[in-house]
Amino acid sequence: MIRDKKNKKKEKSIRTKLITMVLLPIVVLSVMIISIGMILLYHFYTQSIRNELTAATNIVLDCLNLTVRGDYAYESGMLMKGDLNITDSTMLYRVKEKSQIDITIFWQDTRILSTVSNQYGVSAVGTKASNDVVEAVLEKGECYYSTSLDVNGVPYIGYYMPVENSDHTIVGMIFAGKQKDVVYRGIRTVLLWFLVLSGAAGVVAVIISSVYSNRMVSDINIINRFLKTISEGDLTVNLDKKISDRNDELGRIGEYASRMRTDLKKLIERDPLTSLYNRRSCNNKLKVLESGKSEFTIIMCDIDWFKKINDTYGHDAGDYVLVTLSGLIRENVKDCGFASRWGGEEFLLVYQLKHDAAIQKVQQIQQRIRDYDFTYEDKTIKVTMTFGAETGDSSSTYEKRILTADGNLYVGKNNGRDQIVDGR
Ligand code: GH3
Ligand code: MG
Ligand code: MG
Repeated sequence: MIRDKKNKKKEKSIRTKLITMVLLPIVVLSVMIISIGMILLYHFYTQSIRNELTAATNIVLDCLNLTVRGDYAYESGMLMKGDLNITDSTMLYRVKEKSQIDITIFWQDTRILSTVSNQYGVSAVGTKASNDVVEAVLEKGECYYSTSLDVNGVPYIGYYMPVENSDHTIVGMIFAGKQKDVVYRGIRTVLLWFLVLSGAAGVVAVIISSVYSNRMVSDINIINRFLKTISEGDLTVNLDKKISDRNDELGRIGEYASRMRTDLKKLIERDPLTSLYNRRSCNNKLKVLESGKSEFTIIMCDIDWFKKINDTYGHDAGDYVLVTLSGLIRENVKDCGFASRWGGEEFLLVYQLKHDAAIQKVQQIQQRIRDYDFTYEDKTIKVTMTFGAETGDSSSTYEKRILTADGNLYVGKNNGRDQIVDGR
């Protein structure tokens, strides 16, 4: 009892184990895939933004250089290219409208044309570039890309490119940039979709695996209950057909458990030599029969001069006679009762018939045994039996009725054998 309790404490449901086994790799894999996927997506997205901004600055610069000849100059508040005043932001607003990219054209470090406005919506024209940008672009003549720009108090991802005159002096810059808010809104949407889809795939995997493991566990529990019933001594239980229909390891466990039950039942209930019921199970069956209403008649019978058969033809021949004769008896009681090997060469027959009908059946088996040629190793052995019947008195106990039948058997033995002694 104490050991049982201890074991129960340690016991962990196989369902929990199975679900953990399935869930753990799914969760680990999902976290890995989502993390790696998000990093890759982020890099891909920011790289494509950089390409987009580089392309935008090149396009604007090419447009100006190809459509208007001459150098850049800044005179009395006007940005000139050759003789033409290009202080017109229309083209830049067109680009912004189509691509959400802000464009700024600088004269030296000052914004002259710009679609950028600060957080209050005021245009950035007239404001200056930061020192880092001035140093890199105007002084060193390099392009400058940053994901953390502050343009007039608004966070930007942007790209600066130097603008040169024909003598290669750097006179200004072109800036293309996207507000961080806009960029991250895009990234967030993509990542959110990625997360939702990965999460949904995880949930589907969990549902499928838990349905599958539930089914498996419910079948394991059926086998479990089956074995528990057997261990409690009930060998009449049958295993659910659904288990034997499985063509996997569980199906095989079920098959072995069923076979074990059948063999165990046979081992406990039957006599190993003749396969007739043994004395113990015959008593149990009689107990059940006695508790019911139907009538039955008990016959005790014994082979005549069986020792002589053993002595003359050998013990194996004796066994052969026992087995063959048991077959004849089984045939006789079939559909109207049962037979058991009571001990040695003694049998107890139970007919679920009234006394007279039972005696008729006994007469038939007596004659059948008399007539039968028990042939063992080319030798024919003739066998007879003596039968003792009880009166069929249902008011008496079955134990007393067995004693009556036994008494009558010995009367028959003493009166010359090969006869039926009817108790009436
Ligand atoms: P009776 O007509 O008075 O019954 O005489 P009997 O020889 O049949 O009876 P007895 O009790 O003298 O001998 C029974 C014999 O049955 C003795 C025993 O060796 C034999 N016997 C009991 N069980 C088996 C068995 O399983 N196999 C064989 N071959 N012989 C058995
Ligand atoms: Mg005998
Ligand atoms: Mg005997």
